[in-house]
Amino acid sequence: MSKKPIIICVTGGKGGTGKTLVAVNLATMFKNIGKKVLLIDGDVENPNTYLLLGGELENKESVPFFKPEIIEEKCTKCGLCAENCAPHALLHIKDSYPIPILPVCSGCKLCYKICPAEAIKAGQKTIGWTYSTIKNGLSLLIGELKPSEARSAAVVEVLLEKLDEIIKTEPTKYDYIVLDTAPGAHCDVELLINKADFVVPVTEPTRFGKLDLIRIIELIELINKDSRAIVNRSSLLGYRNQFLKELEEKNIKILGDIPLDDDIVNSYCQGIPLMDENSEFKSGEGYKAFQEIFNNLIEWIDTNNT
Ligand code: SF4
Ligand code: SF4
Repeated sequence: MSKKPIIICVTGGKGGTGKTLVAVNLATMFKNIGKKVLLIDGDVENPNTYLLLGGELENKESVPFFKPEIIEEKCTKCGLCAENCAPHALLHIKDSYPIPILPVCSGCKLCYKICPAEAIKAGQKTIGWTYSTIKNGLSLLIGELKPSEARSAAVVEVLLEKLDEIIKTEPTKYDYIVLDTAPGAHCDVELLINKADFVVPVTEPTRFGKLDLIRIIELIELINKDSRAIVNRSSLLGYRNQFLKELEEKNIKILGDIPLDDDIVNSYCQGIPLMDENSEFKSGEGYKAFQEIFNNLIEWIDTNNT
């Protein structure tokens, strides 16, 4: 096995497919076989891995973001900053001080760098938070975007900086790192997929599920990563076999499928992952499906790491 941790990214083109359920249970199964695991929740607009683990957010740290502050005593009202601000985040009226429009500001710092009078101060605002904790023997790192803020990728970048620091300073601290992304195929998701050795998109057996799966696989392939999909709620509408066949016809590789199972819901409500050693729900179809998926995942990893 390599010295660096193996990074598995669980993603999905569509919201509500069960990505987090899969990420939490895969991480739990690695823990069950004695591996050191870090689960990173990169769904920063809706982080809920800790809920599935029955935990609470701890060790809160702010995610700072640049904000331009105009020093009126120095500003000559020349307007150069506003003229060069691509997203028009500085309002400048002739003979007035520029006014920052912060929700539009990308934080590029161009205005700060080019102001000839050094009249722009590098201020900071908090756009979100990170949390770290240990739940059920799993290490958790969580990102959360502040409500009303739009820079979710900046919060994901801070999570990845923390991950890079761990890999650099303590490369053997974890054997496996499981990343849980936001739904969709946008830059937050791309940042996390880009970090992964193995990518697992999760979908459901509906027409929209299939279209979104194809879209996220296109993104995964653009980043030159390999993927194996999981079909969650596969028994929905009695469509399983046809759906799996359709994916096969599209050359989409499958890690496995998870049928509808009350035990999954019951374990969710108890805040103990279905696959946890202390789970009361070890006999249902969902449990068997997760075991098969995990075996397939290990085989896939072993095939690529030999
Ligand atoms: S570039 Fe500097 S001096 Fe000119 S308007 Fe902007 S803040 Fe003021
Ligand atoms: S940091 Fe960039 S986007 Fe924000 S106001 Fe300055 S130039 Fe505009």
